[in-house]
Amino acid sequence: MKTRYPHNQPIAAAMHLWPLTTVIDERGRLIIGGCDAATLAHGYGTPLYIFDEATIRAACRTYRAALASCYRGETTVHYASKALLNTAIARLIADEELGLDVVSGGELYVALRAGFPPQRIHLHGNAKTRDELEQALAAGIGQIVIDNLDELEMLVNLTAHRPYPQAVALRIAPDIATDTHAHIQTGHAASKFGLPLAALDAAATRLRETSSLTLTGIHAHLGSQLFDLKPYAAAIDVLLDSAARLRDYHELTIEEINIGGGVGVPYTADQRPMDIHAYAALIADTLTYGCLQRGFPLLRLVIEPGRSIVARAGVALYTIVATKPLPHTRLLHIDGGMGDNIRPALYDAHYTVVLAERVDAAVEEVVGITGRYCESGDVLIRAAHLPRARVGDILAVPVAGAYTLSMAGTYNLVPRPAVVMVKDGAARLIQRRETYDDLVARDV
Ligand code: PLP
Repeated sequence: MKTRYPHNQPIAAAMHLWPLTTVIDERGRLIIGGCDAATLAHGYGTPLYIFDEATIRAACRTYRAALASCYRGETTVHYASKALLNTAIARLIADEELGLDVVSGGELYVALRAGFPPQRIHLHGNAKTRDELEQALAAGIGQIVIDNLDELEMLVNLTAHRPYPQAVALRIAPDIATDTHAHIQTGHAASKFGLPLAALDAAATRLRETSSLTLTGIHAHLGSQLFDLKPYAAAIDVLLDSAARLRDYHELTIEEINIGGGVGVPYTADQRPMDIHAYAALIADTLTYGCLQRGFPLLRLVIEPGRSIVARAGVALYTIVATKPLPHTRLLHIDGGMGDNIRPALYDAHYTVVLAERVDAAVEEVVGITGRYCESGDVLIRAAHLPRARVGDILAVPVAGAYTLSMAGTYNLVPRPAVVMVKDGAARLIQRRETYDDLVARDV
């Protein structure tokens, strides 16, 4: 965030949380992508999610450039669309020449409908249904990442009479612990995701017998919101050992190593952003050395960032609807909450907030920001530092782009927010607000 008020410590110290184009104008108003946030909130209504196109594009380019400069082999960046997916995002990701990971028939449908090239799509998931696998096969997607032996068996049956083989990868559970919230750890042995290492031989034997599936890669995803790089290096070693086992015992040769996503992003001023170049250098060096050690050519390096592509680009805007004085604090009730952002309730996630029309005003109180949903746990921020806020003020919450809208629901039958994309002073609606008619559209 560029600010003309460097004396304002809380804002100056949090510049890295805001979209790259953020400016505070001379009246203290929040400007993103050249657009006045509060004006957008008044025009489109709240809750409103704003996405800064430049920030998403920059994140895509940073990853691609970092991998390309650090690794001499081929590299591919796949955006994990579970972080946020709609038609505009799918098109933007396609335009930036990333691949796309989907984990459901719904995500696949949105991507294909948006015109995303099927060959650049990978399908993930620990419980893919038969319908979803058929949908993926019919679409001709680039890769199905097999999670378990039952899925493999189903794929063997579904592809038996196909004229050409389907490319698949094996997701393994590498048994690597990570320092993140238990709900977003996925690499340990007891995780619900991925083949246990002990099942690798069984999968390999079945793949060897099956000409309708071609094993192209091996995959692991350790978890999300990771700041420590060491587990990535450990995962690459486990993946390469597995690849060597596939080669030496089963004559299966793979082309790519996929280390998943998980790069953490700062949500509060005290957290620092990850150095993407350092991350790329570490995984590239580990893979280069590991390939050499085991007699592999330089295997293609694939990564799947989700959060770190879209989190910072998104800002959530809410209106203060009511307040509640308590003995030592106040609660500010807003018109959104866990319906559009479940992360605080689900993961105890922390956020910061500013007043969109008085960003640079001095902090006067510490308040709770409470959502509108009928759950006591619907607290967006427990201790927000703000100037004295009033009913009708617009609150802006940064780093709201990932795992918010994609996890949004209609609890209490509150329609989901509108979404706008901002760029060069222009805003365009990319997803309209849900309507009451939408809420009954499925009722018969
Ligand atoms: N790849 C896989 C298989 C995942 O399950 C996830 C997230 O859960 C990701 C990539 C993206 O992770 P992140 O958004 O933390 O980068």
